[in-house]
Amino acid sequence: MSLRPAPANSGVVFRRIDLRDAPTIEAQPANITDVHHATSIGKNGVKVRTIEHLMAAFAGMGLDNVLVELDGEEVPVMDGSAALFVELIMRAGLRRQMAPRTYLKVKERLVVEDERRSIQIVPSERLQVIYTMRFDHPLLGEQSVAFDLSRETFVREIASCRTYGFVKDVEELRRRNLALGGSFDNAVVIGEAGVLNGDLRFRDELVRHKVLDLLGDLYLLGRPVVGTVIAHNAGHLLHTRLVQEIQRHLDLQQVASARNSVIERWARPLLQPGRPLKVPS
Ligand SMILES: [Zn+2]
Repeated sequence: MSLRPAPANSGVVFRRIDLRDAPTIEAQPANITDVHHATSIGKNGVKVRTIEHLMAAFAGMGLDNVLVELDGEEVPVMDGSAALFVELIMRAGLRRQMAPRTYLKVKERLVVEDERRSIQIVPSERLQVIYTMRFDHPLLGEQSVAFDLSRETFVREIASCRTYGFVKDVEELRRRNLALGGSFDNAVVIGEAGVLNGDLRFRDELVRHKVLDLLGDLYLLGRPVVGTVIAHNAGHLLHTRLVQEIQRHLDLQQVASARNSVIERWARPLLQPGRPLKVPS
């Protein structure tokens, strides 16, 4: 996989360089294809799978325009987190582009739910996430986190949190040919007695990883979202349904642009607690 600079306003675009004519797929709600265990996009029969951790790295780092070249269908899993993607982006650096950055500011509450799980977004002046998971495991129980999202928070608290799997599900994952079940190197593996492969990076790493997934999925909207997301037992299915809901109600959202000066300070947090983003009305 290579990441290449892309023109302003082009967004995140994937290119399958292993296929004839190197077809491209834009990371946007209309191209979402499969959201079982991971988020995949596709267009004209061409697919890219497991994009969410890379998308989260783009969201968290404030990277708006990038061409992702892939020589296969799946984004490399790395260690199951976004840490290495963040490191690569930091090493390459980001270049400022001469176009105003736009944000999607939610103006009305939107909810997606079923009996067991829910996700909603409510208006607020910055991106906040409150995420609660009730795990079907005696040692885990319920985990809950709340974050005011900034670039610093993302890098420090979220980017390194790995995906996870339960031993009882591994066979099922293997059957579905997903990388998660394939190795102990790219997921936290949890058995009946606890974590089977080393220490957790955070006590609540699992629910933090859900925040990572959510940020990646939200970024399919093509621009940063300003609002408070409250999720309970959610996952890619609900995340992407919320994305589609936001997209469907675009008339309820405000697309606001930030002056270049805001973006130029990308080295500092873009959306920082206590310093609400100014959105011209
Ligand atoms: Zn994930």
